[in-house]
Amino acid sequence: PKVTGMVSHPPLLGTQGQPLYGAAGARGRKGVSSAARRRLYALSFACVAACCVIYVAVASQGVAVERRAVELLGEGMDKIDAKYLTAETGDGSDLIKKLQQMWFVGAHGGKPEMKAVSDEARELVAQLVVAPFPEEVKKPISGKTNPCDDFYEFACGSWTEENRHKIPAYKSSVGLAWNQASHRIRDSMEELFKTDEGPVGTYYKACMDLDHVNKQGAEPLKPWLAVVDGITDKKSLVKAVATFNKNNIDNLFSWYVGRDPTDDETRAFFLTQSAVTLPDKTYYTEDSDEMKGHRAKLQESIGHLFGLIGREKPEEEAELVMKLETDIATALDDRVVSRGDHGTVVTWEKVQETTPDWLWQEWLEELTSCSDSPDGGASMCPEGGHPAVLATGKEGGKPLLMENVAFFKKLGPIIKTHTTEAVQALMRWKLVHSAGPSLSEEFLDSLVHLQKDIYGIQQKSPRPRKCYYSTLDTTAWPAAKLYADKVFHRPNMAATSAMLEEIRTQFAAELKVEGWMADEDREAAEDKLHKMFFQVGVPTDAEGKEDWPEKTTALEGLLGHELYPNEMIGDRLQIQEGLRDLTRKPDRRKWGGSTPTAVNAFYGPTNNGLWIPAGILQSPFFDVRNSDARNYGCIGAVLGHEMSHGFDDNGRQYNARGELQDWWSPSTVKGFEKGSECIASVFDSYSIKGRHVQGKLTLGEDIADSGGIKFAYKAFEASGERSPADRRLFFTAFAQTWCEVDRKKSAATSVLTDEHAPGKFRVLGALTQFRPFAETWQCPQGSPMAPKDGTRCHLW
Ligand SMILES: [Zn+2]
Repeated sequence: PKVTGMVSHPPLLGTQGQPLYGAAGARGRKGVSSAARRRLYALSFACVAACCVIYVAVASQGVAVERRAVELLGEGMDKIDAKYLTAETGDGSDLIKKLQQMWFVGAHGGKPEMKAVSDEARELVAQLVVAPFPEEVKKPISGKTNPCDDFYEFACGSWTEENRHKIPAYKSSVGLAWNQASHRIRDSMEELFKTDEGPVGTYYKACMDLDHVNKQGAEPLKPWLAVVDGITDKKSLVKAVATFNKNNIDNLFSWYVGRDPTDDETRAFFLTQSAVTLPDKTYYTEDSDEMKGHRAKLQESIGHLFGLIGREKPEEEAELVMKLETDIATALDDRVVSRGDHGTVVTWEKVQETTPDWLWQEWLEELTSCSDSPDGGASMCPEGGHPAVLATGKEGGKPLLMENVAFFKKLGPIIKTHTTEAVQALMRWKLVHSAGPSLSEEFLDSLVHLQKDIYGIQQKSPRPRKCYYSTLDTTAWPAAKLYADKVFHRPNMAATSAMLEEIRTQFAAELKVEGWMADEDREAAEDKLHKMFFQVGVPTDAEGKEDWPEKTTALEGLLGHELYPNEMIGDRLQIQEGLRDLTRKPDRRKWGGSTPTAVNAFYGPTNNGLWIPAGILQSPFFDVRNSDARNYGCIGAVLGHEMSHGFDDNGRQYNARGELQDWWSPSTVKGFEKGSECIASVFDSYSIKGRHVQGKLTLGEDIADSGGIKFAYKAFEASGERSPADRRLFFTAFAQTWCEVDRKKSAATSVLTDEHAPGKFRVLGALTQFRPFAETWQCPQGSPMAPKDGTRCHLW
């Protein structure tokens, strides 16, 4: 992964044609593992002195606890009416503090008579604090949870309760903010798609002509199946695999062209491990009923789809695929290892030595040659092919890097053990699996069946929705240009840029005083922060002029009325552009991560830059009509998050030019590691559906979240007079960015595969470790959201 996003988009769910936000919420009633709870409560009992005083006083005065509480609350209410609601001179913080203590003592003290007082105090807190919030912020809040007990439940509880059973049948999860923004884009774009006369409209029309697609059946696959059928020996097998590679279908292993991680002037050719059909290697290797069930369902689906393409022994071939895929999955480096792998410089001789059972030169020659597309469509490649790619790893050539060396070592024996028929079967499966979403309903339905098993979705997308997202995917850049020209409110760009600068100022101030950082490293870190570029809304050059990439227009005149061939042209364009890139000087600013329509934000470690797409610059993330508190809590935290990626466990390894380099002294590295290990252990303690969050997998995102909330908060404080009510709104807006509901299966999948922790834990993890949160909410030390001072993790 070259770019880090705010939320993840797991492998595009073809049948849905839509990105799924990886971070999923509402996992179980409490979500926090019992071990974590025990730890939190253990902390709480060490430091409830202040609360105990009240409790003892209440009891010793001989007044009935309940009456005393009501009296106390009554006094408070008077004060609140006068001060808090008008927000002139104060907001009743003292009262809230008392109520919080009463809640806390009652909730954790165990005396039955305190329970009622505590419950009342808890509800009163909720009522008091939300009173000044705008309606749309109030609505998702649950008055049943105290903000110091579980802030996610407090901020999102009513919304999750209401939406838990309303997940559309064709989706596996719904996120409050992300969905609102995506729906708004779709509402304004669908009409444009219908009337557009360029590639966007052409693709959309072809997709919407379902009768035609259905009539075609498996026909569009025939030229591709013929490639597989034509394999007679090892040599023709290798050539066929490369032909598929040129059309964006990987087999056995994968590859790409990217920036040389150590040199910002050079691009390199990378070999890397491939993906498998099920979401993670665990699905193939774990000996549980759950995973065995998924494997059986996959095999059944493969068999069914092989039947649809007329294979004579579909079940036998499905078994061959499963055996081969299981071996490949078992050989994969796991995600934590893969995350830290920046590639090893090799030569093709070395590659041949590592995986001797593959004809690497033959593969590379075919990959880099310009041959006609098997289906007769535009080949998209330059005449003469790509000699520079052929020369990689050689004297005078561009670098060749291998990621996942351990995988490539294991790949040799796998290729040796499995028959050519098995690899052919795998190729057919990869073809039909990737093509299915563009084929007739028979294919779609069969794939949806498989997704039902993996993600829990119930049925396929309505056709217009499916076609909208497929169009946004295949004709991504021309569609983004349409959005920018016809929908995007450009004044949002300037306001966002100003906010970014304020956040950068706060980050820079922190670098000067960060205790664990050695003095000699501060300057270089500031330099890196200073050189970080921001692209906001749409692609721009260094002078701020709009600068759209070639692919915005490259598809013009090439698409027709056949859906799958259109898809393949889009894929070939992407592949050919990648290969062509090798000889081009890298442009640090080149838009990465996604397109400007994404409801997301990105940081590129080798670019040292941020892309903030137009898609996220809208309500509820950002709106000039919203208060500063909401804007800083939502988009501000997103911007701070991306900026902090430049200094997370991966990003920090790159210098100001985005080059891998040891630019920190050992003592700074040690300090950083101490802080990041602390954060990883917080997230390790969270679990869901019996699976623990993998703190090492989500570490980069968790570090980014902790920096994001901090610098957004500091910028918010520095840019105006803020009342306690404003601060509470800031934190609530932040948490509501992550209100989510998802299906059980999808939750389990994301914890195994997603580098982002579930939304709920992102809220709990970031806010428990940020002291101003506990201060703002008057949380008693030791309550779940307020660990004892001195025990918090500290990094940025
Ligand atoms: Zn991120």
